[in-house]
Amino acid sequence: NDALLQVNHLKKHFHMGKGQILKAVDGVSFEIKRGETFGIVGESGCGKSTAGRAIIGLYDKTDGQVLYDGKDVHKMTEKERSAFHRKMQMIFQDPYASLNPRSTVQEIISEPMEVQGLYPDKKERQARVHQLLEDVGLNKDHANRYPHEFSGGQRQRIGIARALSLDPDFIIADEPISALDVSVQAQVVNLLKGLQKKKGLTYLFIAHDLSMVKHISDRIGVMYLGNLVELTTSQELYSNPLHPYTQALLSAIPIPDPDIEDQRERIILKGELPSPMNPPSGCVFRTRCQHAMDACAQIKPEWQEINENHFVACHLYNKEITGGNDRTMAAA
Ligand code: SF4
Ligand code: MG
Repeated sequence: NDALLQVNHLKKHFHMGKGQILKAVDGVSFEIKRGETFGIVGESGCGKSTAGRAIIGLYDKTDGQVLYDGKDVHKMTEKERSAFHRKMQMIFQDPYASLNPRSTVQEIISEPMEVQGLYPDKKERQARVHQLLEDVGLNKDHANRYPHEFSGGQRQRIGIARALSLDPDFIIADEPISALDVSVQAQVVNLLKGLQKKKGLTYLFIAHDLSMVKHISDRIGVMYLGNLVELTTSQELYSNPLHPYTQALLSAIPIPDPDIEDQRERIILKGELPSPMNPPSGCVFRTRCQHAMDACAQIKPEWQEINENHFVACHLYNKEITGGNDRTMAAA
């Protein structure tokens, strides 16, 4: 097995008091290979950030298992955990909130190294920070400045330099470009791609829409209300989306060229996103699905392997439920 990360039936529930349980992540499974970029896409509140935090160990899990390089992330000894923290780092959506406003860039990027006792020599550490600044497209003149002196894109570069300071193998990027101007988004995505090549990084890239994630991800998992509903290669997801939710997400991406007339039918989801405290029975998407059948309220759809590397959780593709008239047959 060449998976660097294995997530098996991961659940993260929050007890909200009065017996209420918020099922933020409700049984999610996937693997990420070394050197791969795996994208997770879904609306806000679908549990994608919570999944990221449970994977890196910021949250304890409710059930299931997360294995990094074969080791259970939630059962590590103190020593293993410290080594794991060097190997896996996280980048956040709002770089400003994650950078201490009273610290210089030098201090911000140095901090993880100091905590881990790396580069104890001050001169060496300083040189290391200068190198990291160059790696992310900034320079050593930026080291003595403060976060407020930078643009949003530059702040995200500082956040990336900090994440790289411990020389990690794996980075979880939680909506790293969502807060940035469209013109800056592509620059940061290109930076992340370049760093991946140069440093052999593996990425879990979390996003709320499918437009940018396509350009960086090898494979993508689509998440809805705590569940993965479709998982396949980036190319296959765009050319052959199977789950009704994926089809709706894709139909919402504008065609970038204004000269091309957009003839696609925009799929508008009906209704509101249900509360994860009270998810629909059967298929969690059924209250917004234009194809919902009787079975959808009763039976939770199982993961179907449509072809190699393409999985979907929807009854439309299950012959036993559709009586042979499933979508796979219709398409063939
Ligand atoms: Fe729609 Fe039913 Fe498929 Fe769920 S299982 S996505 S409700 S058709
Ligand atoms: Mg989030």
